[in-house]
Amino acid sequence: MTRPRRILRPASADPGPVDPAAFPGVDARRRAAGGKASARWRALLEDGSTVLADGAMGTMLFAAGLQFGDPPEVWNLTQPDVVRRIHRGYLEAGSLILMTNTFGGNRLRLGLHGLDGRVAELNQTAAILLRAEVEAAGGHALLAGDIGPSGAIMAPTGTLDYGEAVDVFAEQASALVAGGVDLIWVETMSDLTEVRAAIEGVRRVSPGIPLIATMTFDTRGHTMMGVSPEQAVVALTAWGADAVGGNCGNGPDELLPVIERMRAAAPDAMLVAKSNAGMPELVDMRAVYRADPAMMAAKALAMRDAGARIVGGCCGSTPEHLRAMEEALTRRV
Ligand SMILES: [Zn+2]
Repeated sequence: MTRPRRILRPASADPGPVDPAAFPGVDARRRAAGGKASARWRALLEDGSTVLADGAMGTMLFAAGLQFGDPPEVWNLTQPDVVRRIHRGYLEAGSLILMTNTFGGNRLRLGLHGLDGRVAELNQTAAILLRAEVEAAGGHALLAGDIGPSGAIMAPTGTLDYGEAVDVFAEQASALVAGGVDLIWVETMSDLTEVRAAIEGVRRVSPGIPLIATMTFDTRGHTMMGVSPEQAVVALTAWGADAVGGNCGNGPDELLPVIERMRAAAPDAMLVAKSNAGMPELVDMRAVYRADPAMMAAKALAMRDAGARIVGGCCGSTPEHLRAMEEALTRRV
């Protein structure tokens, strides 16, 4: 997917009034939850060490034969063994938070392929596939239900109304929760209003589930829609995200200062760094990522030292990258 390299419009620094009923804070959710999911999240984080997330799903699927333009979520049904093998690779590398193969699993994106009626099936199946691998590996890792952007641009710049966006994200979140995920991870977002709609959608179907929200800072330290790291960490935290950060983009060298700026703006926030394996380069119409496992391992330590508590990889990263990152993080505690 090619994306514009300019900032489309300036974003407001103000997260706006926050209705505690729509966006329950951490304390309110702790009271309301009592659920297994929340307890698993707290147990994962209680010892204070850096938590390894997983690496890329999409670029691994392309390497396995997925054709450009085809919806990766269909492989949950047609190639479940491939999806499970990718999850298994990350589990064997030591990942403790793994994302379902549901990045584009909302009805707007699936609708481009005539699959908008199959949101529940594709998302639930993804969670079931991941759960099977996590259980086979001992059951220690957490399942993150992956929610990517809607694929539409929010009004008034674009055509997607806020209320419809909330409905779209709530539908996907409902299927992921029904599939048994431990948390929801809203990722690769550029527009604060869209993140807000996603969080509101998640909260509509599950007030208590832990939630990670990460945006993509690939335009001079801002998101494509002009959101700064400071604006993101303040707004996403105000909307009750348990952990906030950056994913995808142009590689660790661009994400590292984003993490540093978030840490400075929000000293208590739990931060997340899930960088691509370097700046994508186009070779023969394919994106190529050149950061090798040793490079990503060194950058994982830098992300931790900058304040990231959850560290993983995005496009171009493989189980080999994640294994090197895990070894680096556990060798130098
Ligand atoms: Zn990515």
